Amino acid sequence: APIVAVVGRPNVGKSTLVNRIIGRRQAVVEDVPGVTRDRVPYDAQWNGRRFTVVDTGGWEPDARDRAAAIAAQAEIAVQTADVVVFVVDVSVGATDVDEAAVKMLRRSHKPVILVANKADNQNLELEAVSLWSLGLGEPHTISALHGRGSGDLLDDILAALPEPPPIVEDGPRGPRRVALVGRPNVGKSSLLNRVSKEERAVVDSVAGTTVDPVDSLVTMDGELWQFVDTAGLRKRVNQASGTEYYASLRTAGAVEAAEVAVVLLDSAEVISEQDQRVLTQVVEAGRALVIAFNKWDLVDEDRRIHLEKEIERELKRIPWAIRVNISAKTGRAVDKLAPALRRALASWEERVPTGALNTWLTALTQATPHPVRGGRAPRILFATQAGVAPPRFVLFTTGPLDAGYLRFIERKLREEFGFEGSPIEVSVKPRK
Ligand code: GDP
Repeated sequence: APIVAVVGRPNVGKSTLVNRIIGRRQAVVEDVPGVTRDRVPYDAQWNGRRFTVVDTGGWEPDARDRAAAIAAQAEIAVQTADVVVFVVDVSVGATDVDEAAVKMLRRSHKPVILVANKADNQNLELEAVSLWSLGLGEPHTISALHGRGSGDLLDDILAALPEPPPIVEDGPRGPRRVALVGRPNVGKSSLLNRVSKEERAVVDSVAGTTVDPVDSLVTMDGELWQFVDTAGLRKRVNQASGTEYYASLRTAGAVEAAEVAVVLLDSAEVISEQDQRVLTQVVEAGRALVIAFNKWDLVDEDRRIHLEKEIERELKRIPWAIRVNISAKTGRAVDKLAPALRRALASWEERVPTGALNTWLTALTQATPHPVRGGRAPRILFATQAGVAPPRFVLFTTGPLDAGYLRFIERKLREEFGFEGSPIEVSVKPRK
């Protein structure tokens, strides 16, 4: 959802305005100069359009003066917001601090909506004329407390938001693209033969599909899947001469073209360096991942116990990968593949609402703050999901985070929101 940041000096009525926008009476506390309140995002809606309102009411305790504080606020707003609502107290007028903030906001090239708040009576409404001098266009005179003018303001905020992405849900989407990868002899062709044995789709009859001749269309669990770049598998190219270099090129190509990868491992053999390289290729490409332990028919009790230990040791970095134990030869659990792929793809495309993300993160960082470094501990001011496929998160902070603390956040993020079967990315933007 697009982000609307509400910026302004303390006590101009930002919180009251945010309460108006989200349609709540007094969830948000009025800001008091000098008191720290973290930037809190709220999920809001107007005329059927969803957006996130960030109340930038927080003040840095270490801010030397108000100008510095508002600069910090404006900066966060600039980095994250799609639209900035700049609130001025009409009974006070534009101050030096306001003018400094306006300069910064203007440099951001983000749309800024000027709000003249506390226009509780007609006299004050006339005062708003003086705010034209800020160069932000016509001031929206409102009384957040009494609700006057807030409907018009919301209309203008919506108009300034970026175009919503077109809804494509109804259109025919091609089948999900799957890469079937793994080292030679692990059973890729056998598995492909096994899953395409039952039914083979007629390529021409599939709407909205661009199927390469090197791909295979296969029905699994009532759904059509596109196994990319499988020509080499079908033709049984001479693997003796197919050096690892070419194998890894083929893997890279297939993974790149796919949304989700099935990495086949040989349950009867140790997880090798070559296996690890294939897994790394998938993770680094940011694709959803299902690990299929093939040749499960060869696994006896001893091997199973041993394999468990091996998995713990060798797959430590990807505990989130979805695992299935199959046998391409006997057909054991091959029907578990499609549900596993669906689950991985759902995680890969999961979106966490900004409000929920920050509510959770605030609680987490309060319970377990960043360790103190050189007398100070960086704080996370705000988090947002920048994208999907795979899910990408950005943390806006007061300084760089320890690698260990970042890993902790990532782990907790997974504990809270899942993402089973998908890599996620968490990046940090320290404030300058
Ligand atoms: P690829 O190189 O990855 O395509 O592997 P293949 O599909 O050619 O399989 C290599 C060998 O492993 C063949 O001899 C297969 O019959 C055998 N194989 C494949 N899957 C299984 C399985 O689930 N169990 C057993 N026991 N053998 C398998």
